[in-house]
Amino acid sequence: MTTPTKTLCPYCGVGCGLEVQPPALPGKATYRDDAGTPTWRVRGDRQHPSSRGRVCVKGATVAESLDKSRLKYPMMRDTLDEPFRQVSWDEALDRIANRIRSIRSAYGRHSICMYGSGQFQTEDYYIAQKLMKGCLGTNNFDANSRLCMSSAVAGYLQSFGSDGPPCCYDDLEQTDCAFLIGTNAAECHPIVFNRLREYHKKNRKVKLVVVDPRETSTAKAADLHLAIRPGTDIDLLHGIGHLLLRWQALDSLFIEDCTRGFPEYTQILESYPPELVARRCDIRLDELELAARYWAENERVLSMWSMGLNQSSEGTAKVRSLINLHLMTGSIGKPGAGPFSLTGQPNAMGGREAGGLAHLLPGYRTVKNPQHRAEVERHWQLPPGQIDAIPGLTAWDMILGLEAGQVQLLWVAATNPAVSMPDIERTKAALRRSPFTVYQDAYYPTETADYAHVLLPAAQWGEKTGTMTNSERVVTLCSKFRDAPGEARPDWEIFAEVGRRLGFETQFQFSDSAAVHREFVALTKSRTCDMSGITYDLLQKQTVQWPHPEGADEAEAGCYDKRLYEDLRFPTEDGRARFCAVHSRGLAEAPDPDYPFVLTTGRVYEHWHTQTRTGRIPKITKKHPHPFIEIHPRDAKKLEVLDGMWVMIRSRRGEGKFKAQVTKAIAPGTLFVPMHWGFLWADNSQANALTHPEACPDSRQPELKACAVQLSPL
Ligand code: SF4
Repeated sequence: MTTPTKTLCPYCGVGCGLEVQPPALPGKATYRDDAGTPTWRVRGDRQHPSSRGRVCVKGATVAESLDKSRLKYPMMRDTLDEPFRQVSWDEALDRIANRIRSIRSAYGRHSICMYGSGQFQTEDYYIAQKLMKGCLGTNNFDANSRLCMSSAVAGYLQSFGSDGPPCCYDDLEQTDCAFLIGTNAAECHPIVFNRLREYHKKNRKVKLVVVDPRETSTAKAADLHLAIRPGTDIDLLHGIGHLLLRWQALDSLFIEDCTRGFPEYTQILESYPPELVARRCDIRLDELELAARYWAENERVLSMWSMGLNQSSEGTAKVRSLINLHLMTGSIGKPGAGPFSLTGQPNAMGGREAGGLAHLLPGYRTVKNPQHRAEVERHWQLPPGQIDAIPGLTAWDMILGLEAGQVQLLWVAATNPAVSMPDIERTKAALRRSPFTVYQDAYYPTETADYAHVLLPAAQWGEKTGTMTNSERVVTLCSKFRDAPGEARPDWEIFAEVGRRLGFETQFQFSDSAAVHREFVALTKSRTCDMSGITYDLLQKQTVQWPHPEGADEAEAGCYDKRLYEDLRFPTEDGRARFCAVHSRGLAEAPDPDYPFVLTTGRVYEHWHTQTRTGRIPKITKKHPHPFIEIHPRDAKKLEVLDGMWVMIRSRRGEGKFKAQVTKAIAPGTLFVPMHWGFLWADNSQANALTHPEACPDSRQPELKACAVQLSPL
């Protein structure tokens, strides 16, 4: 029997462990997918501490996309109207390096941008930072994580002094009350939710509260579902805070010893009396009071959130308003308690650790901090002052930069912005204007490939070895188990090759990904995300949860219940966490008589993001053949819309047609569409044709969750 290769599911941030074996095994029939193609066998890894052998449909079927529509060779063209022609790696890489040189001298280093991905392994992320922020001297590296969890990053940083989810999955089974807000975990983080649901079912005293405008599968399992009006999250959180203050359900000692800003926060809370909050949120007063009572009566409250809070023009304030409740009740730094952001992508956490956003540097450092820049410059053997002090262009700012002619070279890797960005027609027009776009991906065609001058084939999951960190800070070695098709290469090798061609020989001498990892973890020493004790040798034996500093006891490596801030000291200047005292601003684009509905976007259980993988797996596409829209029966009746009818949705930016699902799961006045369909999969049915790019001023994360629309039957 062939020993299975251990790896990690490359979809969501739950980070389930997988074991993979080849299609043909001695004494067994060849394993095949629905279409009869031999396919790698995938099962859950029972020894993985985060998932304990469980997988959802996405993880179970991931291998079925490995050999479909792969980009195998570098391709080039001079203009977007020409067909691509196959070229050698040397020709493609020389063209990129020459173009970087000429653009840098004509327009300056800040006219070059890279847009990366939470699909990267940490080694890919790290080398991309070294190339862009170190060698090229521009912080114009951002990742699709900007659209996913940058508000959580900003919220943690502002409230605690550092990024980093303080909780772990063990907390799911030790909490008194799970408070889920803006997350449909049952569909989007199913294995985490299954663990929580099982514990909740067995322990009836444990409370499960779900805050979501939709009655999702997650909400159906709740003791209390608060179907708040979209955009009223801060009102709700402040309303709960108001009641806790009124009832004096506070941890006064914790507030006194471990926090700052409580008096200012209590002043803000005065403006959120429960009657007003219930009216604004469109929930009953007794529902609000019950939610507050759960916070008041339970010592260990575990809050969890994802896009519902993050994808908002006040995303950071929402995250911090939730953290406020933990600070006022002292529900943090102990088992079963704390604010736990559920990461969207498989390695968005690794990206944060490696500095993979436009304002970050590796090891949870920031580009604005002179000491941080100096530390990284030394580590990278670059002259002082090489790293720029100003944060680079974020995802949407790159689109604006293309529009303004400021961005002259865009390098996109492992992501599909021609589907996932807000205001997609504007995005596509900006991509069309790009003087030079490199697109590096495992698949072809994709929507974004239409806008590229150079295509670089990337090795993907199972075709390269590297590390990923999941939502609970567990690092897993994802081992290679097959060769990449054609001439595809690992992302980090491609970045390093361009770096060497630009003259940075010393900086990019790596024999393999283990050498990249060694250099990276050394930069995390003594930081909150200290991984300096994590080596490939150790990871070959087991997964490791950070912090795991160099010299840590080997036995420590097998502990998966490490929490941050157990000593109740925070990485701020004075060791205290900060309350956030801000008012709710509501939606950036509220409904009005012309556009009377709030459209909210999200995901379905089976699909992943823009379907680059899942759209090529028949089991999954059969389940969701069409893009759809959820509408409440009362609205459907008024507009003469029947279940199954195609309808047209229009916003101020664009339109799209969707098949109506008439359901009471959505509140009157609100509509829901999934975000997965690009023009490759359905004609004129893109959710992001409708969304707007208004972003949170702190995190620069766009409000993909809500926009104003009108609806008419087709
Ligand atoms: Fe993969 Fe997430 Fe499903 Fe786990 S829950 S198998 S990580 S998609």
